[in-house]
Amino acid sequence: MDRVGDSRITKVVIVGGGTAGWMAAAALSRTMGGLSIRLVESEEIGTVGVGEATIPSIRLFNALIGIDEDDFVCETRGSFKLGVQFHDWGRIGDVYMHAFGQIGRSLGMLPFQQYWLRGRAEGVAGRVGDYSLNETAAHQNRFGRLPHIPNTSLDGIAYAFHFDAALYAAYLRRIAEAAGVERSEGKIAEVRRNGETGHVEALVLENGTAIDGELFIDCSGFRALLIEEALGTGFEDWTHWLPCDRAIAVPSENAGPARPYTQAIAHQSGWQWRIPLQHRTGNGHVFCSDFISEDEAAAVLLANIEGRPLAEPRTLRFRTGMRQRAWSGNVVALGLASGFLEPIESTSIHLIQNGIARLLAHFPGRDFDAANIDAYNRRIRFDHERIRDFIILHYHANQRTDSPFWTRCREMAIPETLAQKIALFRSQGQLVREGDELFVEIGWFQVLTGQNIVPRGYHPMADQLSREELSGFFGDIETIVAGAASRLPTHDDFIAQHCAAGVPA
Ligand SMILES: Cc1cc2nc3c(=O)[nH]c(=O)nc-3n(C[C@H](O)[C@H](O)[C@H](O)COP(=O)(O)OP(=O)(O)OC[C@H]3O[C@@H](n4cnc5c(N)ncnc54)[C@H](O)[C@@H]3O)c2cc1C
Repeated sequence: MDRVGDSRITKVVIVGGGTAGWMAAAALSRTMGGLSIRLVESEEIGTVGVGEATIPSIRLFNALIGIDEDDFVCETRGSFKLGVQFHDWGRIGDVYMHAFGQIGRSLGMLPFQQYWLRGRAEGVAGRVGDYSLNETAAHQNRFGRLPHIPNTSLDGIAYAFHFDAALYAAYLRRIAEAAGVERSEGKIAEVRRNGETGHVEALVLENGTAIDGELFIDCSGFRALLIEEALGTGFEDWTHWLPCDRAIAVPSENAGPARPYTQAIAHQSGWQWRIPLQHRTGNGHVFCSDFISEDEAAAVLLANIEGRPLAEPRTLRFRTGMRQRAWSGNVVALGLASGFLEPIESTSIHLIQNGIARLLAHFPGRDFDAANIDAYNRRIRFDHERIRDFIILHYHANQRTDSPFWTRCREMAIPETLAQKIALFRSQGQLVREGDELFVEIGWFQVLTGQNIVPRGYHPMADQLSREELSGFFGDIETIVAGAASRLPTHDDFIAQHCAAGVPA
């Protein structure tokens, strides 16, 4: 009989050296003993080179691989992110924020939003953002590390990062190589499979070198070299819900202080991101090619950037959806190889990290047990579908009348899971987070409200406070939040003091 150790996987091969590949390499090398890890990438093919805004969960990943945060922000010429500010999404002229972190506080059995709904109906509540430290600080371009507001029961600042995608991959590479990961340069020309099991056995580079392994992690980007080209796993297309299929990206000079948040500005046939870094601003126009040409989309982008462009605009093409099975046989796909959800809520890097965390939890033996693989795939599907629903909400709940794109988004049929969430909210403002879906109730609340979905009522328990008590409740929170925000340094000062990258070469 085999000893337990005999069935252990010892050889892992990662295909691709973009964000996904190096995140996987860093995480596996830092957390799993006894593995030999080789990463194969081709400089000639290169990486997608975008993906510069994140959400707070990335801090867990940083902690997992032992990153010093200031060093990381400095090395990636990054900045801090308190949320996403949306312009013109519900109606032209609307501005709202999906800020990270707590808003107000719950009271008794009810979440804050129930009191806010009553307060708004009675004219005693201000804007949702007045009760969010993140949003209040964002409006003032302030940032600081403040886990709690001192002497109160309120949470402090919740944050993520903006960073330069190429520098991030390089940073992770240094960590991974220091932890023993080996790298092979070259184009993969052939994928060899076992005739009986169908498992991938080896990759052959153009120069004839063969690289064998037991577990293969496909981080080859949109091409999906192993999971699709070799194994033909299949792709579930979601473009009928998320019709944007291209982006034009261009970096520009910074024009003013770095905002501690991402901006998402809706245009007639899509939307534009602005991501502030220390040395430049990342800009991109995500659009649907059924409604606007690439030249027109580039013109819209160039007319709406704040500083001088630093490069020629470049086009990226994509298809929204997910791989039918992110894990098939001995191949696990991560990153763009596993699927694509557009970047409106900066969820792709989170999904890479999530895929890695789930892979660690379900790390296989050499038998590649089918029950284990199925469990992994079910969880990955759930994670993708719930994020997909949240993203669709931004498009669907619009009242814009200026273009056929927005009319199509408003009139399209939506997934039943999303329809149920909206219907529940419309009745009396209730929100239920199911399982460990990524976006929490207060995130949904900000977007639903920001997109002008107004519930018919609120929970009757919110009537337990008198009108004066309710007004005092809001007033106290607003005062605490405003005071805490005003004591934070400006975002630029914080960076200068803790993690300034200096002048780029
Ligand atoms: C327009 C746009 C905006 C985005 N914005 C965000 C955002 O703000 N936030 C966010 O979280 N995510 C964002 N993303 C997603 C994010 O860019 C990706 O999730 C991330 O960069 C991971 O990419 P990747 O590593 O999977 O693929 P890639 O970066 O494409 O890397 C693929 C790797 O595979 C290698 N490779 C491919 N074929 C071969 C071969 N035959 N032989 C050898 N090597 C090969 C390549 O050389 C490369 O190293 C965005 C994506 C797009 C398209």
